Amino acid sequence: MSVVFCPCTSGKTYNDCCESYHSKVSFPSTPEQLMRSRYSAYVLHLIDYLLETTHPSKRYLYNKTEIEKWAKENHWLKLEIVVAEKDVVEFKAFYQQALKEYIHHERSMFKKETGRWYYLSGKHIY
Ligand SMILES: [Zn+2]
Repeated sequence: MSVVFCPCTSGKTYNDCCESYHSKVSFPSTPEQLMRSRYSAYVLHLIDYLLETTHPSKRYLYNKTEIEKWAKENHWLKLEIVVAEKDVVEFKAFYQQALKEYIHHERSMFKKETGRWYYLSGKHIY
């Protein structure tokens, strides 16, 4: 039997990690879980999931085609959670584009509304 590890690099199987969020069987109970599931949604090109987990007040800032382009033109290598506390998650997403490696380092804010966490905004760290 083959084991499919979760793209969010948690070390767990996809089945025991982000899959239940992607298939809406359950919702992430912490910002870190949501962050991880959003990263693996980029890896798996689940663009609707990315929009649905963005806070409703901020969705107008995003364009489905652009998210899809960003998700697909990069080869996602791994995710590293730097800090996760309260409603903030700082992370590094490692990816490759045209054979060069890059790190997307961001401090993201999350907001809980009607029992669900949403991605609110992010600040790039250079
Ligand atoms: Zn995962």
